Amino acid sequence: MILPTDTNIDNISSYFGYRTLFGSSNFHDGVDFPIVQNSKVYSTLSGIVTFSGFTNGYGICITIQHDNGLKSLYGHLSEGYRVQTGEYINAGQVIAYVGPKYLSDGRLNGYTTGPHLHFSIYDSSGNLIDPLNFEYKKSNNL
Ligand SMILES: [Zn+2]
Repeated sequence: MILPTDTNIDNISSYFGYRTLFGSSNFHDGVDFPIVQNSKVYSTLSGIVTFSGFTNGYGICITIQHDNGLKSLYGHLSEGYRVQTGEYINAGQVIAYVGPKYLSDGRLNGYTTGPHLHFSIYDSSGNLIDPLNFEYKKSNNL
């Protein structure tokens, strides 16, 4: 699989599992990469974009259904360029850029304390699993 950012797989600010955020314990359903705003975000595998829009938890986010049954999610993205629902995406393709903490209309860009990429993986049954169960290589920056 392709790393979703130009960083290293050990550069993670929040792991999959229980954590404390905003004073309460919750389940963190992916990993966070602490990278700066406007960094490129890559699709980890090829597939079809199944969502590209705003949710309260992830802010502006994208989900991609992959050919092998996995689904990936990328959260806290920018309001600029991003791929749209229904597009077919190649592995390693730029799909969006890391967004700000607040969107232009003042809304919080999901449950976030500052710019970073949230990355989740669902298995073929729709269960969230630890993205670090897989091996990654860096994108060729397509
Ligand atoms: Zn996160």
